[in-house]
Amino acid sequence: MLIAGNWKMFKGPGEAAEFCRSLFEELEPVADGVSVVVAPPFTSLHAAVEALRGSPVAVYAQNVHWDQDGAYTGEISVDMLRAAGAEGAIVGHSERRQSFGETDETTARRAQAAFEGGLGVIACVGETLEEREAGETEPVLRRQVEAVAATVPQPDATLAVAYEPVWAIGTGRTATPEIAEEAHAFIRSLYPVEQILYGGSVKPENAEELLAQPDVDGALVGGASLDVHSFAAICRTAARLSRS
Ligand code: PEP
Repeated sequence: MLIAGNWKMFKGPGEAAEFCRSLFEELEPVADGVSVVVAPPFTSLHAAVEALRGSPVAVYAQNVHWDQDGAYTGEISVDMLRAAGAEGAIVGHSERRQSFGETDETTARRAQAAFEGGLGVIACVGETLEEREAGETEPVLRRQVEAVAATVPQPDATLAVAYEPVWAIGTGRTATPEIAEEAHAFIRSLYPVEQILYGGSVKPENAEELLAQPDVDGALVGGASLDVHSFAAICRTAARLSRS
């Protein structure tokens, strides 16, 4: 089970360090069976890494470029992330796709570079409300998943796919456990990825019913990951379920 917190554009270095120190304390009794990731903004990566030194919590970036270096204003490379102590990166988040022109192709290139560079990867996929209502969920997921699968045909435990229905992100509207399970099982039928995370308004109150689904292997948490107690509660739920 993998629980990842996507902080988006929240928490500068001071706040990130404080959060991570508290998380370290709150998670001390968390058993094996759950991996925990936090994904701060780039400028807070180093502070988070330092504060989590000696803890099993990994620090991921929220994006990564496919080239080692070059004229790519605003981008960051695998080596730069590694030098900051990051162990992985999220790619293809719907906010990147919707607001910053990210495509299936760029997402796949980012995933491939990170995977080949030894970083963990969380590759995000998911349909919009219009696509769901038009009955296009499966073709959209197929297109998005196959783009990543084409560049990383044999993923290992370091690559996870996050199913994040766009209509459930930051809206307070969560997919039902049945909707999540159906999408996860479909993704699993397309791609031999070990971990498929659900993302979309996960919080302590709904984590258990979502994480209990057989094809839900963890969660990518946005809003609720900004509060250390909420995030730790979701991690503890995952630990409890993975023990049972
Ligand atoms: C996300 O941004 O990846 C996300 C799932 O956000 P939220 O939990 O706030 O819906």
